[in-house]
Formats: sequence, C-alpha cells, structure tokens
Amino acid sequence: MTSVSPGGTTPPEPPPGGVGLGGTNVPSPSGGSASSRTPLADPPAGGESIAPDPPGPLGRRWLADLAWLPGQGVVSDVLIEADGDRFTSVTPDYSAIVPASSATSAPERLHGLTLPGFANAHSHAFHRALRSTTQADRGTFWTWREHMYGVAARLDPDSYHRLARATFAEMALAGISCVGEFHYLHHQPGGHPYDDPNAMGRALVQAAAEAGLRMTLLDTCYLAGGLSPGGPLPLAGPQLRFGDGDAAHWAARVTELGCDVHGMIAPHAQAGAAIHSVRAVPRAQMHPVVAWARRFGAPLHAHMSEQVAENQACQAAYGMSPTRLLYAEDVLGPRTTVVHATHVDDGDTELLGGGQTFACLCPTTERDLGDGLAPAQALAAAGCPLTLGSDSHAVVDMLEEARGVEYAERLARRARGHFTAEALLHAATTAGHTSLGWPDAGEIAPGARADLVTVSLDSVRTAGAADGLALEAAVFAASAADIRHVVINGRDVVRDGVHLLVPDVPGELSRSIHAVLGREPPL
Ligand SMILES: [Zn+2]
Repeated sequence: MTSVSPGGTTPPEPPPGGVGLGGTNVPSPSGGSASSRTPLADPPAGGESIAPDPPGPLGRRWLADLAWLPGQGVVSDVLIEADGDRFTSVTPDYSAIVPASSATSAPERLHGLTLPGFANAHSHAFHRALRSTTQADRGTFWTWREHMYGVAARLDPDSYHRLARATFAEMALAGISCVGEFHYLHHQPGGHPYDDPNAMGRALVQAAAEAGLRMTLLDTCYLAGGLSPGGPLPLAGPQLRFGDGDAAHWAARVTELGCDVHGMIAPHAQAGAAIHSVRAVPRAQMHPVVAWARRFGAPLHAHMSEQVAENQACQAAYGMSPTRLLYAEDVLGPRTTVVHATHVDDGDTELLGGGQTFACLCPTTERDLGDGLAPAQALAAAGCPLTLGSDSHAVVDMLEEARGVEYAERLARRARGHFTAEALLHAATTAGHTSLGWPDAGEIAPGARADLVTVSLDSVRTAGAADGLALEAAVFAASAADIRHVVINGRDVVRDGVHLLVPDVPGELSRSIHAVLGREPPL
C-alpha cells in the first residue's frame, strides 16, 4: 500500500462542518463537526456513567482588552458573546461602536491578552508522578523508562482517576481546554483485564470531565516489548498491562467503550486510536488500528522516531525507517499525528509533509529526556501542521512548549526568527484541536467552541510589553502562572487563577502522587 490519502482503502465519512486540514479551522455555519454531533444518550456500555458536561450558560458577554482573532491578529476592545458552548459574535473596537451608557448589560471584563483555548495534543497523565523523582538521575530515555514502568505498575482505576483528575486540573490552570490522552495502561498487573476492560480509560474520561476539560482518549495499541532484527519481542513485566494480544482484540475492547458513530464517548470526550510505536506494534498488526480509526473518522496518533535506537531497530527488522514503514502501512495522512519525529531524514520529512500528517512536538519532554532536536522548520515547510504536547509533564506549560520549538531551532541553526509568535500559537490552538478531532475549536470566532484563555500582561514576567507586541510577550515571556481566566465550552473553569471545579489542585496532586509512589503525604 502506498496511498497516504485520508480515505485509503476504506474512505471515512468526512466530518461535517469542514475540517481545515493543514491546521485551518473552519467552523461550519451550524457549528457542526464529528465532535459536535449529538452524543450518546445512554452512558457508555459496560461502565459507570460519565459525569455530565453541562453546556455553558446562555447569553454570556465578555469585553477583552486585547484578543487574538483569526485573520486580524491582536485587536483591542473586543466584545465576545456566546450562547451555551459556542461563540455567537465577536466585535472589535466595541466601545467606539456602542457607548457604555447604551449597553444593555455590562460585559465581564478580561484584562490582559485573551487567546483561544490551548490543545495539549500529547499527554500521558500518569507520568505527572515522575516529576522531580527522575531529575536526581543521570541516564537516558531508556533508564527514565524504567522509572515510568515502576509508576505504571502501581496504578489501579481509582488511583489513576485521582492522579489524572489532579493532572488535568493543572492543565486547565495552564489554559489547556482539550487534552489528547495517549492511553496504554489498560489492564491489571500481569495483563488480566478488569471486569470492565476499559476501566482505566473510563477513569481518564471521568477525570477530564471533573477537571472541566474536553478529551480525546487516544486508546493505544501496544502489543510487543520491543523490536529485534528477528522481529517483535514479547511483552514483559509491567508492559503486560499494556497488551491486548493482537490488534483485533484491541479493536474489540475499544469498541466496547461505547462510542457513537462519530466516536463520541461522552459530551466532552471522543475516542481516538493510537499505534504506540513501530517498536510496540508489529507491522502486520497496524492495519486493524488504521481501519478502526477510519470507521469512526477518528484521529490516529503514533510515537515515531523519538530515539535513534528505534530507527536502527526498524531498519534492522524491516529494512526501512519508521516513517517509511508507517507510510507503507497507510498510517500517515491528514487525520494522523506522528509524535516527536525527532530523527527523520529529508525523505521522511517529504513523506510526512506530502501527506499533511501532523507532527506533534513536545519540546520540554524531548529536552528533559535528551532525545534530540526535531527538524521543526523543515517539517512545517514540507506541509506538516505542527502541534504541541506536554507528554511526560516535566512541566505543564503550553507557552513554554510553544517557544521551545523556536528556541530549539535557534540552537540548531545558530540564527533567530524561524517561527513567529502567531505561528507558535497556531500550533497550540487550531492545529492542536484539529489533530485531536475537534476542528470546531481553537479560534475566537462565531460558531467555534467558546474557549477563552486570558494571559496577564501586568505580571513580573510580562509587564512593560511594547504596544503591538502583546502576542510576543505572551509566547516568549509568560508562563502558565500568568493564565488568569479560562473558559471551556462557555463555562468558567478558572477565574483569577483559581480552578472553580477542583478547589485544591496542589493538594490533590500531592496526595495522589504520594499515594501512587507509596510515600507518606506531607502534613
Ligand atoms: Zn508520549
């Protein structure tokens, strides 16, 4: 198979509402998309009901000092209106048009710079428990992985739910309105399924609801413990929890999540598919995952070429690079995201860009693990929309991820100015949401999902920004600590830096992490 068309051999139903491939977000007049269709009326089969996601209130109005609008850049004095979970109108220079005395009701003021919600396109929630723990070590990605397996071995659905709820709440505080959770910790220790084989995935979906986020649950096929020249290696130790036996059994389990024909699991959550990597999914097992994703029009993600050793193993086993293998197996295309793409050559880059495959970069994790530098500019120039993920959660800060792409390029090329602040924010918003199957989110525009993130411009990090350079101040100097207000689907989730749904996020992080690691929590 050589096609990289989105349809492949089984054409998917195109999502209504118009997916702007290449990262362009084009909400339909009806606001429709696969992710905005009527969700299941009944709870998912085989598990607890998921907490409802009440729509935002009707008739909300905000007046932003500054807002970043599609096609207009940063505009001042912007009235933003929403009904339920959708923006209904966006009016720049509002005060000049409507004198304050004639306004029917005063809109809520948003001081600072207001942006669309951020999409965290690549997350493993349980890695949050590794923060700090792994920083006392030397080693490599492979030694770090042993620590990660140690945490994976200790989780059950309840402890996973508590850890994920706190982690997702941290994300909301950082302005993240949607998370792509790359989920492979499926079964009990030893590999035995829970009574509900999707108990762990459902714990994540519930956690996202409680933290106020939308989610794409990228249910991950993970079948092999590595790749040798003679072929795939069996799962061993903690990896046994990841495996479904083969891709057909993986597909059967994921289908039991109970998603509707559009892949919706709950009002706030949709199902996606993932091939963990060429190390973990044998070549012959890739097609059933691709076919499942196409059946539901679901996003398909895969780790790819994060490590040189992965490329070498793929070359030895299959005689080609991971990119070429995924291309040959019809995995690539405009509904697919490859995560990392760190060690790709010019030919790989051409294949990825030609298929408009998303490339998700995770700069804070890649530098934490010493992975190397992805050729970000070459990937973008070839046609790959770039997205961003906090991956291992060494930090959770999408502004840091965004500028990390530019800074890595500066170090590699010894020159400045490869990506504008606007291009980096595009990766954090429209492209990220589209890669997760939410093409109707990521812009402040009528018809789009009503997600707002307001960045303070008077903190110690951002004060003194020059007129006209608010976007640059936010992307290159602000941090997650400067996120003041977050609205998701028209609902207030963060106000004045306080999470409104999870009252003690640091406390929940501390308690859940200490419990997972078997430590006494601090007094
Ligand atoms: Zn990852």
